[in-house]
Amino acid sequence: MFKTTIAGSLPKPAWLAETNKLWPAWKASGAELEQAKRDATLLWLKEQEDAGIDIVTDGEQSRQHFVHGFLEFVEGIDFSRKVKMGIRDNRYEAMVPVVTAELRLKGRVHQAEASLLRSHTSKRRKITLPGPMTIVDTIADEHYGDRVKLAMAFAALLNQEARALAKDGIDVIQFDEPAFNVYMDDVTRWGIKALHRAIKGLKCTTCVHICYGYGIQANIDWKKTLGNEWRQYEQIFPALAKSRIDQVSLECIDSHVPVELMKLLKGKDVLVGVIDVATDRVETPQQVSEVIQKALKYVPAKHLFPCTNCGMAPMDRDIAIAKLKALAAGAALARKKLGKKKPKRR
Ligand code: ZN
Repeated sequence: MFKTTIAGSLPKPAWLAETNKLWPAWKASGAELEQAKRDATLLWLKEQEDAGIDIVTDGEQSRQHFVHGFLEFVEGIDFSRKVKMGIRDNRYEAMVPVVTAELRLKGRVHQAEASLLRSHTSKRRKITLPGPMTIVDTIADEHYGDRVKLAMAFAALLNQEARALAKDGIDVIQFDEPAFNVYMDDVTRWGIKALHRAIKGLKCTTCVHICYGYGIQANIDWKKTLGNEWRQYEQIFPALAKSRIDQVSLECIDSHVPVELMKLLKGKDVLVGVIDVATDRVETPQQVSEVIQKALKYVPAKHLFPCTNCGMAPMDRDIAIAKLKALAAGAALARKKLGKKKPKRR
């Protein structure tokens, strides 16, 4: 009960890349960089295990950015020509590459990370991939000329990598779709359809992570415009409840998301954000446990997975470690409390 996991990313050590950045520059290149990525992945695997996290990730140590880490492995994209584009409905501007031809995978994307996880942990293993809608929102297109066609093309490639990851022994494959909270009408029109294409034929557990973004200033400013109650989830959860996705990862602690919206995800595993990634203040186990208690009114215990609100990539390393420990300790406290409530069997 209350198996803990994280949204995905963890801070990169200073010897691997620039710290406290969403698009950090690598500190090495070639074989040296590959080795540094491997070392950082192992380090975070150990930190997650030591903290008591149940479903562990590679901490996204091998990718510079959660979307472009995938795109680098796709043929048909011109990275030499980046254009300025407003993304997430113009919340911020980014320099994005351009799709110029039919898309194809160059080869495996996360095979190295999957094999590291497989050979170094007996915990359940999760790998994250960007979702089709979020990719389409983070790239310019001169070839497909249609967002849905482009999304379906990316979904087919995501499916190819996801199937291979499942074969590599990955237990949970999660698609990150922050764009789902921005283009709610598109989610029901084609977003879930694209996700279904991405998970086609997968035997492992599948998850979609929908958040209000990393704890960076542009997101903090955007959140201030969303009012006292954030009801974006209300428009998309009923359709997600009917979807074939097994798990939904959502933002909860310190957000203005009404907790009762979780009841719209009936039948799904819910990864409840009990750790805020937009503040360096470390949660107490008591605070974490309280969020779990609140969520329990709407999510059955067996479907409730305490998680972080979003990735921790831009944070300080020490703070991220402290937050991992708070997450595990808070879940343990919640388990104890629930155990006391239930009458003992004779
Ligand atoms: Zn997120």
